[in-house]
Amino acid sequence: MGDYIYDVVISGAGPVGLNVAYNLKKSGLNVGVFEEHPQVGVPANCSGLISKNSMDSLNVDIDEAIVNRIRGAKLFSPNNQEIVIDIGKDFVAYLVDRTKFDRVFEKRAKKIGVSILNNTRLMNVRNESIFVEREKRGELLKGKFVIGSDGVNSTVRHLMDIKVNKNFFVHSMQTRVQGNFDPSFVELHFGNFARGFFAWVIPESKEHARVGLGCSLGLNIDNCFNEFMLKRFPEVKVFSKKSFLIPCGPPLKQWYNIQKKMLLLGDAGFFTKATTGGGLMLGLETSNLVSPLFNTLFSDKKFDFKEFDRVVAPINKELLLHWKLRSYYNNLSDDKIDKLFFKAKKANIENFLVEHGDMDRPSLFVGKLARNPKYWFLGKEVFSFLRV
Ligand SMILES: Cc1cc2nc3c(=O)[nH]c(=O)nc-3n(C[C@H](O)[C@H](O)[C@H](O)COP(=O)(O)OP(=O)(O)OC[C@H]3O[C@@H](n4cnc5c(N)ncnc54)[C@H](O)[C@@H]3O)c2cc1C
Repeated sequence: MGDYIYDVVISGAGPVGLNVAYNLKKSGLNVGVFEEHPQVGVPANCSGLISKNSMDSLNVDIDEAIVNRIRGAKLFSPNNQEIVIDIGKDFVAYLVDRTKFDRVFEKRAKKIGVSILNNTRLMNVRNESIFVEREKRGELLKGKFVIGSDGVNSTVRHLMDIKVNKNFFVHSMQTRVQGNFDPSFVELHFGNFARGFFAWVIPESKEHARVGLGCSLGLNIDNCFNEFMLKRFPEVKVFSKKSFLIPCGPPLKQWYNIQKKMLLLGDAGFFTKATTGGGLMLGLETSNLVSPLFNTLFSDKKFDFKEFDRVVAPINKELLLHWKLRSYYNNLSDDKIDKLFFKAKKANIENFLVEHGDMDRPSLFVGKLARNPKYWFLGKEVFSFLRV
């Protein structure tokens, strides 16, 4: 590499890293993306459900990655009461093949000349020296700024000395199941078997579904998962399952470091919805919001880093509300969840959510809920908790 110096080094070639790399390269900066794995998109650690509205607004053609289109959701309480959110003829979400999805972003970035170094793991950063392990050998590269888009266990986050409470992670397990499914609806199951999160069934087709469960760290994920499988799929034998961490906490207060010239995006920076663990859409949107600031950062010596907070404020507002909803839910017993389902169904929550619900932006409906006397049964403490 000689004396070549990147303007921005991006650690992690997930969709968020590849998206910000594309934006920065397009704006004229030299960017290098380091990816520890030999190929982009492998291994795939995701269910791949994304909101249609948010995805369409990004203007990225993901047709080749779409596996299914989802029309609604069926929510199950611990004693199996059901709330159905059915959008009707239209659909609300895409189910994607995560490997193909990531490769859409890879192809787009490579097409405009972004350099992606595979088998390259970012290890350490000192001033403008970037230490990487490349093809199992140590190497030194140069970069003026580092973006950490290196996922839930981010090395860059560690290098920024950011300590995250272990309660702000959820343990998850996922498998693929053969059976009979309604291909238009995802299922969400709530109860003690998934304390601190929930279980999900996401149909790929009439015959196959992605089935997973998340629970608080410290619980035995195998036991939780087996209990759910026994309840929902008593006939099914699971041969292979994968286990991952999901960031599930409030937005990070410190997600960039001026002295170290580092910034976090995507899962690395906890741009993940604490209600569902979904991180693709808000992660990509955040990377679009911060990208235009990099040219000013390099050209203006007086650049105020608070600009990053300003552009990301609308996303952080949503993420905070996701976190408040998660914290509220986590304090409910199974009995309370059952009662809530019963009352919500009676108050016609299904129609309300069809009309106002949004997978990514709870602010669009929580306020409306609080202003509608029909939903005051949720109690003053819920709304004051959410501060709406
Ligand atoms: C079981 C499960 C189900 C999920 N389902 C959904 C869902 O349905 N919808 C949704 O929106 N989100 C979902 N998520 C979350 C989603 O997968 C993440 O939010 C998303 O992948 C974040 O993208 P990213 O680009 O920030 O990070 P990642 O996709 O995690 O990419 C990070 C990349 O960095 C690389 N890397 C890590 N460390 C280094 C290093 N030191 N040097 C170089 N490279 C490095 C990794 O190899 C990886 O390629 C799910 C997560 C899990 C675990």
